[in-house]
This record gives sequence, C-alpha cells and structure tokens, in this order.
Amino acid sequence: MPESPQRKLIIAIDGPAGAGKSTIASRLARKLGYINLESGAMYRALALKAIEWDVSFDDEAALLRLALNSRIQLEPSVGGNRVLLDGRDVTPRVREQDVSEAASRVSVHPKVREWMVARQQEMGDTGGIVMEGRDIGTVVFPHADVKIFLDADPVIREQRRLQQQHLMGKAAEATAAELRERDRRDRTRAASPLVPAADALVLDSTGMSEDEVLQRVEELVERKRIAAG
Ligand code: C5P
Repeated sequence: MPESPQRKLIIAIDGPAGAGKSTIASRLARKLGYINLESGAMYRALALKAIEWDVSFDDEAALLRLALNSRIQLEPSVGGNRVLLDGRDVTPRVREQDVSEAASRVSVHPKVREWMVARQQEMGDTGGIVMEGRDIGTVVFPHADVKIFLDADPVIREQRRLQQQHLMGKAAEATAAELRERDRRDRTRAASPLVPAADALVLDSTGMSEDEVLQRVEELVERKRIAAG
C-alpha cells in the first residue's frame, strides 16, 4: 500500500521578546519545508500605519478602522518575513524602536487582537506552518499540533537583543528599557496576556545553545508527527 502523505502540522512558538523565537521558528520551518509566519510583524505593520496616519495608540475604534482598511501581508523568506503594508515593503522600518514600542501599545486592544487573530487563522489554516508570537498556542491555534513556550532569563534576553543589533551605550540602555516595558505590557494586559498554554512545552533557553534548543523542539515535533500519522 502506498504510504499516506504526512499531515502538515501547525506549530506554535510563543514567548517574550529576545527568547530566540524567530531564529528557532525560521530554522525549524526551513528544515521541515514549512512556512514561518511572524505574527508580531503584523502588529508592527499596523503600528507603523498608526504612526504614519497619526492615529492614537490608545484609540481602539480608530485602530480597528485602520486595520479594516489595511492590507498586511507576510512573505516568508530566508532569515525572516518580508512585511508588506498596503503593497509597500516596510520590512526594515517595522523593526525600528518607535514601531516596536507602538506595536506593543496597539496590541493591548481586544478588537485589534480579534482582527489579527482572524487573519492569522486564515494564513495557517492548511497547516505546514510555524507561527511565532505571544498568543499562538493559547488563542490563535489552541489546537496546534505542537506548542512551544520559549523563555530565557530577562538579563540574557536583553544581552542577546543588544548583541543582535550591535548596540552599546545610550542606545543599548534605551532598547533594554523598551524590551522590559514591552514584556511587562505583554504579560499584564487583560486581553490574551503572554502565558504558556497548559499543554505547551516550556523551554528555558538561558543556558542552551541555539542548536540545543532546535534539537529539543525537533524531538517534540517528531513525536507529534508520529502520533499524528
Ligand atoms: O514578536 P514581536 O516583538 O515582533 O512583536 C511586537 C509586539 O507585538 C510585541 O511586543 C507584542 O506586544 C505584540 N504581539 C502580540 N501578539 C502576538 C505577536 C506580537 O501581542 N501574537
């Protein structure tokens, strides 16, 4: 009998900023031949539009209207997603500090989140995806085949982020403070706060190399693939 083709899984990777989600998600997706979707980039794109259109980050109704009138696309590519806002490539711009801060503020609103979640569910519906974010295993795909919650000591997360961006001195201080504030906001907001799903594998990557983390994740994926048949 011919072997049935392997079912394409939905893999959710959540965790705070600087825990290494993006690197693990993109390496894992490449290995599996899946696509990697960075849900945070969607919040960043909407935040950028709010900056450009001078919409208050506190005005939920106006932000929802803005979202409804926006086209936000993620295009998986090696080394991360290409981000298109209304057809314009905004990939490097959405990584800048003012947008990071704004994304964290627009993402507290339940109506904005509902809109984002619906888009993200459409994107991942068919499986064969690794989606990373804060609420993927809890809200976007509560039935994901594999759920990872990737964490690390806050000091280590800050150091990694500063090294990645080659920051020192005042710029480093500002980025570290921004990271701490985003973290606090993500964990304490009323709508979908950052928490591990009850059935997530919680991985503390503090003392682990990237390869070690990837290996642990791959082992879990393999077990789930066998179980899924
Ligand atoms: O992951 P990234 O740092 O790009 O996300 C930017 C911001 O978007 C986060 O600080 C967080 O507030 C928000 N976010 C979210 N839910 C997600 C992904 C990101 O609230 N699933």
